[in-house]
Amino acid sequence: MCGPDWLEQGMNHVWLPYTQMRTTLPPLPAMGTRGCTITLADGRELVDGIASWWTACHGYNHPHIRAAVATQLERMPHVMFGGLVNEPALTLATRLASMLPGDLERVFFTDSGSVAVEVAMKMAIQYWLNRGRTGRTRLVAFRGGYHGDTMATMAVCDPEEGMHSLYQGALPEHFIADLPVDETSTQALDALLRQSGDSIAAIIVEPLVQGAGGMLFHAPEVLRRLRELADRHGVLLILDEIFTGFGRTGTLFACEQAGIVPDIITLSKALTGGTMALAATVARRHVFEAFLSDNPLHALMHGPTFMANALACASANASLDLFASEPRLEQVGRISEQMRAELESCRGLPHVVDVRVMGAIGVVELERIGDMNALKSALIAQGVWVRPFRNIVYLTPAFTITPAELTRLTTAIHTVLSQSAPDTAHRC
Ligand SMILES: *Cc1c(COP(=O)(O)O)cnc(C)c1O
Repeated sequence: MCGPDWLEQGMNHVWLPYTQMRTTLPPLPAMGTRGCTITLADGRELVDGIASWWTACHGYNHPHIRAAVATQLERMPHVMFGGLVNEPALTLATRLASMLPGDLERVFFTDSGSVAVEVAMKMAIQYWLNRGRTGRTRLVAFRGGYHGDTMATMAVCDPEEGMHSLYQGALPEHFIADLPVDETSTQALDALLRQSGDSIAAIIVEPLVQGAGGMLFHAPEVLRRLRELADRHGVLLILDEIFTGFGRTGTLFACEQAGIVPDIITLSKALTGGTMALAATVARRHVFEAFLSDNPLHALMHGPTFMANALACASANASLDLFASEPRLEQVGRISEQMRAELESCRGLPHVVDVRVMGAIGVVELERIGDMNALKSALIAQGVWVRPFRNIVYLTPAFTITPAELTRLTTAIHTVLSQSAPDTAHRC
């Protein structure tokens, strides 16, 4: 390895995510970010196509978010949320309630998406207990889904991706079904809910796009079916909009495209514009009301130490200001059109089986990716930061990306996928 001292020393001590540390290429030292570029220690600048796992929707270092966080830092970085509240958190809760459809109006803050999903699961299970209905402890989740990495959320991920068999015995068992995309799958789900409804607390789904499971798209009609089935069988519906929320699919929230309101929604990723860790689980009024009683045990028993962190909430409020003051959804529309036009040329390339675009998500699906390290290196050699996974190469850029930057990304993907033996020399 080469680079600054801290890199060489620190690499002996950090444990990287999703990484076979014996065989994967070493990570690149990022020294600075601005707009849609990442600067590396050796001075190279990469155009970012991923927006740091879909979070940095306004580009990096947006001056409005920086100023809001700096002001809050002076005043009060953090104060516990037990017995005390803070202005940024309460303002954010009020704003989220007014942006979300229907009576999704009760916000529980956490610091990561996985924990927001765990809270949604606890809410759903305890909702039934508080109403005197015991035994409803299981969820219905879908093949291809992803809801987080913690033990409880792994159990509602796709069984293969969530490695259910590896962790067998350690994970709670839920029902994993096929999304109701056609007559057969709809009837199968209807039958499951009819037979096992008494043991089911909720259905959980990522609306319109199953993200980390492979950027798989489904139609709004599927969500309307899920709402209808949940109502018919008396179970709750949880929409995990951690990836899709805040404009990514073309509307502020994906559920708007189906015209449905879930009972519980989870948000994170772009919530703070990519600046701070924050997540929210938002419940409808009837869900919240099931927790109101004279019995202290009917309270929601959850409370992360750093919940409703004032810096993170200030950052989220600043991000929401930008959605109000800048034309984000139009930008998403333009990105969508440009990706549709420019990624289309990948369709004819060897091993490409599909090209699809929804909102600011562009996907080139391959039969399989043989040499992942070689592909990643080839993309970096093109001066772009694009992270293929499984069998897909995808773009989820910041909504503020310029047409020229986006063209650099789509061109890089086309170039690299055209090469039969990608150039692997990037180390030093
Ligand atoms: C990223 C993601 C999560 C998990 O969020 P973390 O902050 O990584 O814990 C859950 N659900 C969806 C849909 C996600 O995209």
